[in-house]
Amino acid sequence: MEKKQFQAESTRLLDMMINSIYTQKEIFLRELISNASDAIDKIYYKALTDESLVFDKEKYFIKVSVDKENRTLTIRDTGIGMTKDELENHLGVIAKSGSLSFKKENESKDGYNIIGQFGVGFYSAFMVADVVTVISKALGSDSAYKWESSGADGYTIEPWESDFVGTEITLKIKENAEEESYDEYLEEYRLKGIIRKYSDFIRYPIKMDVVQQ
Ligand code: ADP
Ligand code: MG
Repeated sequence: MEKKQFQAESTRLLDMMINSIYTQKEIFLRELISNASDAIDKIYYKALTDESLVFDKEKYFIKVSVDKENRTLTIRDTGIGMTKDELENHLGVIAKSGSLSFKKENESKDGYNIIGQFGVGFYSAFMVADVVTVISKALGSDSAYKWESSGADGYTIEPWESDFVGTEITLKIKENAEEESYDEYLEEYRLKGIIRKYSDFIRYPIKMDVVQQ
């Protein structure tokens, strides 16, 4: 397992997220679902030019799972995934927006959604979670990796097992604090409400899975 430090700008953004100057914490889910959708888009566009790839609509989805007992919220996608390098270089790096340049190359400006492009991105997960775990396997890669961080003091990265191409992001939802409750982010109705509010336009199915007690 390797332990790494974030770049200075990333640390600043992370500190902001952890100390949550933002009142609208719910937008973290919009950001993660938008990343999941972008990741599926990348396979879709690849399939347009790569004849060895077929985009079978049935196989692409985003799944939100809740485990109340363990206080975890997981967002999984069947998108393009990330290599070890991509996990290290893309996750939450503010200066360069990979998705943004990808979209510029592949889509015209009109008729597509710009929400999310100027969002706070992946790091917004730290507004509601004290540990964020990302397991990812990139398209065309045999190996998966696990990236994990509990905030500004860096992240770990290690080889992991995964049977599917794509990304699974697990948030360990914060314990309630005196002035703030985080339990709502483990409630199905609340999560559904957030998804309806911000992610209605997503063109892949968003499934929901709740572990019953
Ligand atoms: P942006 O989406 O504006 O690029 P983010 O902070 O939301 O910024 O995400 C940073 C980068 O991390 C993305 O551009 C993408 O390369 C990578 N990434 C994040 N989530 C995923 C995911 N679910 N699947 C694949 N790549 C992802
Ligand atoms: Mg994003």
